[in-house]
Amino acid sequence: MQIVFATNNLNKLKEVQALIPNHIKLLSLKDIHCFEDIPETQDTIKGNAIQKAEYIKSKYDFDCFADDTGLEVSALNNAPGVYSARYAGEQRNSEDNMNKVLAELKNTNNKEAQFKTVIALHLNGELKTFTGICKGKITNTKYGKKGFGYDPIFMPNGYNTTFAQMKLELKNKIGHRGKAVAKLVSFLNS
Ligand code: IMP
Repeated sequence: MQIVFATNNLNKLKEVQALIPNHIKLLSLKDIHCFEDIPETQDTIKGNAIQKAEYIKSKYDFDCFADDTGLEVSALNNAPGVYSARYAGEQRNSEDNMNKVLAELKNTNNKEAQFKTVIALHLNGELKTFTGICKGKITNTKYGKKGFGYDPIFMPNGYNTTFAQMKLELKNKIGHRGKAVAKLVSFLNS
């Protein structure tokens, strides 16, 4: 059986391939000659994940899974959420995005936040979603150089370092994406 993982990140692809049964072969977007930008025009994280998986199914006729992730900050009514990549503008700059969140939270004590990943799987005519959440808080300033996106300002509950100060293995183990992938893998193994 072949399933497309709607990503061009070969590291992600290899990681997931190593966790699922051998009879399921994962294909990348490149493998199916999909080189265009896949539309992500929904107003929820789940909606975008589903949109991407359905796009591949309808246009390329492959079973497929796709992921979408966002940071939800309580005091900002769960923004930036689905707009996480472009929160401070279309330049999609992580420094600008983090600065905007830090400025908006400057005068509040409520720093609660969570990362949410939704994976949508289109398999044998059925659609399933798997959600991974990592709860934590936004720091007052940036700490650490590892990772990407909002990692320098997100401190997961139970730890006193940000994602950007952690080893990738630990972030993957306790993080939103890792949790969603674990649910997907457990479903594919069942
Ligand atoms: P995507 O859906 O994985 O492309 O994520 C959308 C945006 O959310 C990214 O551009 C980042 O700004 C942010 N983001 C996603 N995952 C993470 C993460 O693990 N750490 C920090 N920021 C992330």
